[in-house]
Amino acid sequence: MQGLLNGYRAVVVGGGRGIGHTVAQRLSEHGAKGLMCDLPDVIDHASQLSAFEKAEIDVSSEESIAAAFDRAKREFGTLDIVVANAGIVPPWRRTEDVDLDEWDRVFSINVRGVVATLKYAVPLMKMRGGTIVVTASINGITGAPLQSAYTSSKHAVLGLVRCAALELGQHDIRVNAVGPGPVLTDALRERIRFRSTEGGPTEEEAEKLLAGQTPLGRIATEDDVADGVLFLASKLSAAITGHLLPIDAGYGIN
Ligand code: NAD
Repeated sequence: MQGLLNGYRAVVVGGGRGIGHTVAQRLSEHGAKGLMCDLPDVIDHASQLSAFEKAEIDVSSEESIAAAFDRAKREFGTLDIVVANAGIVPPWRRTEDVDLDEWDRVFSINVRGVVATLKYAVPLMKMRGGTIVVTASINGITGAPLQSAYTSSKHAVLGLVRCAALELGQHDIRVNAVGPGPVLTDALRERIRFRSTEGGPTEEEAEKLLAGQTPLGRIATEDDVADGVLFLASKLSAAITGHLLPIDAGYGIN
């Protein structure tokens, strides 16, 4: 499988840390080159990957997205792979306590940010075809108490994936989503630590609890998600478009 992506040009949005950074690393291990884009302070601190240059992006700003893809166009001409991974997770809230400004912020990144990414990515992919992979969540197909804003945003993004797949198939552009279950990235660890100060389980207890809810007895890792993105970004998934691939060790079955 080595060299599966030789000659491919990729942009990973939200590629500065966590799942997105592992994805950029995995794509580069298989021969892709390109840009990993993230917020300025995050991308500054991201570890270097020889095949991926760092670029700044803020997906809440259309101008910023346009500028990042303009750079990709100048450097590569066309793109083969775009990964739309940027996302935020708000604090847990009951539905009657929903904070509508927070709701709008979540949608501005997790939904508007993704559609804006596709808006500027697609023109660079139409000539030769390509693959788009959106990081949704297992919450894109299942509900979760106290997580209505996040869960609704990830459901919305699956609607976008399906519509874009229907439109873009004629240009040989496939559009899919990965649906990670809980993955112990730094971001999730921080949220667990915060909840534990409010009486929630400790990090160790939380990991055990989550693992106990999967048939595999463990939760998915960043590497598991990166392997799923590699599959959806490559020819290995040539007949798959418009779908969400759960990567959750079975967490979302029930
Ligand atoms: P993370 O916070 O490390 O990753 C999110 C990335 O998006 C970060 O690099 C962040 O800087 C970037 N980002 C946030 N706002 C941005 C903006 N305005 N412009 C550009 N980039 C921005 O967390 P992660 O756990 O690695 O999550 C990555 C993706 O996976 C997210 O979309 C998240 O919703 C999804 N996801 C994560 C889990 C999990 O348990 N970790 C589970 C399901 C889905």
